[in-house]
Amino acid sequence: MRSWSIPAGRIFGIEIRVHLTFLLLLVFVWLSESAMKGNATPAHGLELVAIIFGSVVLHELGHALVARHSGIQARAIILLPIGGITLLDEAGASKSKEATWKRDVRIAVTGPLVNLVIAVVVGAAVLARFPEAQLWTKPFIHSNHLLRSVVWVNLYLGLFNLLPAYPMDGGHVLRALFSRTMDSVHATRRAVSIAHALAMLIIVLGMLLFLQGGHPDSSWLVMLGCFLLIGAQFEERSAIFQSVIETVHLEDIMLTDFATLSPADTLEDALEKAVHTLQDDFPVVRGTDMVGVISRARILEALRAEGNGYVQSVMNKIFEVASRHESLASAFRKLNARNLSIIPVVEDQQLIGIITLQNLMHSMALLAESRKLRREAMET
Ligand SMILES: [Zn+2]
Repeated sequence: MRSWSIPAGRIFGIEIRVHLTFLLLLVFVWLSESAMKGNATPAHGLELVAIIFGSVVLHELGHALVARHSGIQARAIILLPIGGITLLDEAGASKSKEATWKRDVRIAVTGPLVNLVIAVVVGAAVLARFPEAQLWTKPFIHSNHLLRSVVWVNLYLGLFNLLPAYPMDGGHVLRALFSRTMDSVHATRRAVSIAHALAMLIIVLGMLLFLQGGHPDSSWLVMLGCFLLIGAQFEERSAIFQSVIETVHLEDIMLTDFATLSPADTLEDALEKAVHTLQDDFPVVRGTDMVGVISRARILEALRAEGNGYVQSVMNKIFEVASRHESLASAFRKLNARNLSIIPVVEDQQLIGIITLQNLMHSMALLAESRKLRREAMET
């Protein structure tokens, strides 16, 4: 999600990013406006996009600020054409079940609430002061009727997000309610299956309308249904992935049978050792002390560039260590943060194992497989 987005500033210290598909919205608005043959000007089209953009930002800020109030930092808000995503940093948040589901409901509800309040306030103002904006006349959302559009954009955003279809906010509320009685993966699964059913219903409805003579809303419904379907699937996968990597400890997957190098080894010796193991990365150990890490690729590179030398002079002296009780998720974060490919696991300053990117990928696949087998065994 993050890699396809560009930074667009900060509000309340929260990074705002625009997903590249938001540009599709610009194109879509432009196309549909020129199709309607309204005498829309490009400037008005941009203003309409700004209204949508602003409404989505306010919606997401609602989530982010309530989350912050409950002790969860929002890392970034990513704006998509169909709404936004607020990336929350849940590490360090309270873990009590009771507190968690109430907090999740509060965070989820605030976004749509912001939009509904805007719609009601601006709507009331339009009815009272600007009757010429004709609130109830179609098209509800059009660049020639910006004031009216503010009301309807927010009304649609609020209602659409309240759909009880995960990952919509309404679905988050549903999931939070389920999590009172079950663990988070099961709660997500149940919310997702409801989202699937709802998405299929919307798609079928859209198709029926289309067959009955192409009602103008039919293609929208089909698109909405497909979007919900994709969103739900994506959320389910990432929830399962997250739960796996949070519950697995490094001692469960670390390599305990591994080769080490000494700083006094020559590069040629090191290469010789590397040939006899499948490892790509090596801890460098002096006596019992960890002094660095080095990869097979780095050894080769140094040999090619400078000829034979010592491991000491080419090894990476900046590295992270982990303890055996740390979670896989935390190891992932460490690997990512410093672009490392190996983490030594240390206990009482003794090297007891290593985690490498290569072995992480393997063990993830194995873990997923063994959980699947266990689940199948339980179901039969
Ligand atoms: Zn929301």
